Amino acid sequence: MPEIFLNGQAVQAREDQTVLQVALENGVFVPYFCWHPHLSTAGNCRMCLVEVEGRGLDIACNMPVSAGMKVFTDSDDVKAHRKAILQFITLNHPVDCGICDKAGECTLQDYHYAYNGEPSLSVDAKVRSTKYYNLSNRILLDNERCILCLRCTRFTHEISKSMALGIERRGDVSNIRPVEDRPLGEDPYSDNIVDLCPVGALQSRQFLYKSRVWYLKATPSVCPGCERGCTIQVWHRKPEWFVKSLDQRQNTSIARITPLENPAVNGPWICNKGRDLARIFERVRADQPMLKGRPVPVAEAIDAARRLIGAARHPVALVSNWGSNEELDSFKRHLGEVFVHAHVKTDWQPEEGERLEDDLLIRPDKNPNTAKARELFDMGEPNYHDGTDLVLVWGEGYDFSRIPPQAKIIFLNSYLAPENGHADVFLPLSIQTERAGHYTNFQGVVSKFEPCFPKGEAVLDAEALFKALEAPPRGHT
Ligand code: SF4
Ligand code: SF4
Repeated sequence: MPEIFLNGQAVQAREDQTVLQVALENGVFVPYFCWHPHLSTAGNCRMCLVEVEGRGLDIACNMPVSAGMKVFTDSDDVKAHRKAILQFITLNHPVDCGICDKAGECTLQDYHYAYNGEPSLSVDAKVRSTKYYNLSNRILLDNERCILCLRCTRFTHEISKSMALGIERRGDVSNIRPVEDRPLGEDPYSDNIVDLCPVGALQSRQFLYKSRVWYLKATPSVCPGCERGCTIQVWHRKPEWFVKSLDQRQNTSIARITPLENPAVNGPWICNKGRDLARIFERVRADQPMLKGRPVPVAEAIDAARRLIGAARHPVALVSNWGSNEELDSFKRHLGEVFVHAHVKTDWQPEEGERLEDDLLIRPDKNPNTAKARELFDMGEPNYHDGTDLVLVWGEGYDFSRIPPQAKIIFLNSYLAPENGHADVFLPLSIQTERAGHYTNFQGVVSKFEPCFPKGEAVLDAEALFKALEAPPRGHT
């Protein structure tokens, strides 16, 4: 193990490490734009310059360690050159932070205040370039803000392998451009480049001008879009910034979804479906218990469900593979003895045109918790017979025409659907963004999600509901 000296401190390094990696690992921050731990080294931003005794200045991201080297990350020479690099990088930058979505989480902004702090020294007019350039139907490019770090192009070449981006022309007229026959819109991982971009050059159309980031908080969660169960952050408005006079739905809406790095599951990436979870979670909700389509109070609906369960001789249950570990356990514990025939139902099928599977993250099963559900219940369609007198359907995706006509139906669902009104008893359930829980992914990794928003008054949590359904109906002795 080579020993090197960082600002006079001896530290141990591995032979295959660079000076930048050793510095970061040992708590010595060296600023960088183009370097990224999951991409190849480009070395083009020059921001990570350090001084090595006897060798002068060089970039730390591409400098292998050698025993005994003495590295200075904060010498006067390093500081002066960092400042000059920031002056150079902002030479043609529009500095339009006031209208930039990246403001508040922009590396260029942060570094300017940390390492430069002076206005531009240039007296020349800035070179103008294209703004709002359409990279795809999901991503806009502001070429004036681009610092040509090439993180986005490297991502499409090395990670998503769509090869969808490249650079056109040279010098101060260089632009990131899509490769014509490889549309970025067909790259199901394209939105990762918005996170990767260290400045505000790449903008998500979904998030464009939706909110300033400091009004938002990120709640850790799990993407239910497939059995990978990527860990994510659900961004939503901080309570202290709730709007009072504008559209108050903003207070309980998903502003954006970003990955939460998890080496055991998804590394630092997610696919675009994970970014689009608002499309799933923000459908029109069912928030009213019903008996045959007639709205009733929660207690009356629970009581009616208990009566049906108590009276059934051959009940069957279809269990949701969107249920959390806790909810599935609760069903087994409280209702498992009654519903001896409980089968795992597939709530979501792949949508038309959706990528089924690949080598990066996307998995063929488009449900988050089949692994746990399979551990506890039978797979496959139940074997109905003439005596089947009660079917409990938990969650979406079941064709009610398969249920024998003589059977009573208890339906537990979160969204508005025609079946809700057909069920003998309908009970509305909370969704993932309204409760805490865990999913088990296809590799057996358990990940936690936390609540972001309150649930409606008559909306029930499945875990508590199953416990309540175990009790005999009111008035029963
Ligand atoms: S668009 Fe962003 S990520 Fe791509 S090269 Fe420019 S600054 Fe880097
Ligand atoms: S790979 Fe699957 S779990 Fe991960 S973000 Fe995409 S849909 Fe969600």
